[in-house]
Amino acid sequence: MELTGPAVKPAPTAVPRWGVTAACLAARREDQIEAFACAEPENLGHLETRLAEESRELLRQASEAGAQKKADATPPRCPHCQRMLTRLKPGQPRSFPTRFGEVTVRRTRGYCPRCHKWRTPADAALGLADTAGYSPAVQEMTALLASKMPVSEASLVLERLTGVKLPRATLDREARRQGERALELRRTLDARPVAPPQLELPLEPCQLILQIDAWNIRERDPWGQSAARRQKGEEPERWHWVYTGTCFRLDHRAQTAGGRPVIVERGFAATREGIDALREQLHAEARGRGLGQAAGVLVIADGAVWTWRRADDRFPGAHQRLDFYHAVQHLAAVGRALCGDDQAKLNAWLKPLVRQLKNESAVKVIRHLEEVLATLPAGPAAAAVRTEGNHFHEHHARLDYRAAARRGEPLGSGAIEATCRQYPCRFKRPGQFWSRTGDESLLGLETLWRNRSKRAVALRLLTSSSSSWSRIAVALGALGLAAR
Ligand SMILES: [Zn+2]
Repeated sequence: MELTGPAVKPAPTAVPRWGVTAACLAARREDQIEAFACAEPENLGHLETRLAEESRELLRQASEAGAQKKADATPPRCPHCQRMLTRLKPGQPRSFPTRFGEVTVRRTRGYCPRCHKWRTPADAALGLADTAGYSPAVQEMTALLASKMPVSEASLVLERLTGVKLPRATLDREARRQGERALELRRTLDARPVAPPQLELPLEPCQLILQIDAWNIRERDPWGQSAARRQKGEEPERWHWVYTGTCFRLDHRAQTAGGRPVIVERGFAATREGIDALREQLHAEARGRGLGQAAGVLVIADGAVWTWRRADDRFPGAHQRLDFYHAVQHLAAVGRALCGDDQAKLNAWLKPLVRQLKNESAVKVIRHLEEVLATLPAGPAAAAVRTEGNHFHEHHARLDYRAAARRGEPLGSGAIEATCRQYPCRFKRPGQFWSRTGDESLLGLETLWRNRSKRAVALRLLTSSSSSWSRIAVALGALGLAAR
């Protein structure tokens, strides 16, 4: 603090309205605290609720004053093309809900001769969308809540926790809008030729692990047309695959104090738009996590053919591994064909083979299956053994579990399977996002949230900017990705 300089006398200014409210509140607090201390049936929760409610008006007034100051300081420049606006109309009021209640701001509107549109630069500066009038904090809250729970519940939780009242339909619409913008932002980020920014670029070459899986989602698109479609001979398809992937560095695996395995830092990709879309998302996510610097890339998935084909395609040179549990399931299928319902016999047959697969060599297991097949007469058991034997043959290069254990690599795709159990929690509950586009928006929000450690800045900018591409360019600029 400067102690020796000449004393600067502040210019006398009127105390702002929120300053008066603050003084009144402070004066009342003393009495309230005294009253609370003596009120026997009340616990601290009662005081917390009362203080939060009464402080709301102060915070609302301060937000309004701040918003007005920012609006006044915003130059009359087109937020899209930066051209100075003409035909200025100052003092245009706009009221909108903030997290502390409704505020009104007066701003200047003007005409952009280049865009041929009326613009309100203060709205862009404040982060207000052209079409939906909510403050950035309310926008973010609606997006997060709606991505975590059905909108009917989200509406109640929002009001209970923050006092913000948003009807269910409004919340649904706003969340959907945020979801669409999340997708827009992701597509823009993923399409960049340079790698997205990273919190921590690996200094030493690291091993990058990718895991891929899929889960099912039920949609009602096209809702109400089932009978008409059936008449035309088309059975409406309700269940669809959501392709999901995760990527992380091998050295980012750790254990909690209780011994539970955790991945400290990982990225996610999920889409309802097909396997090609997943490939692009996951590739972008992997680039952001050091794909370019990685000493090696390992892809782990179950046996679905698409996984390997796509992995070959986008991650050439990557080492591939069949999920260990998946391989064991195939061995168990052989066991069931041979032993029937005799569980003890099945266990006795299966256990040594599983041990062999894990600790020795897949070649030995395959040879064993061939020997078994040679002793069997033609029939369903032989057919089952042949099918599974072919499966192991096809994947034998991906069954290197002993080497994997020695290198400390994961044997299975447990990380993505856990993810595939978590994602559907929101989707397999009643809600309004039950169309293909709605689902993709919701997936976009959820994925952006899951990738928040790296893209926190983007999320904040996303929810605080207007819907235009130019604002996304601002987000990109802030991320160090401005177009060159
Ligand atoms: Zn313009």
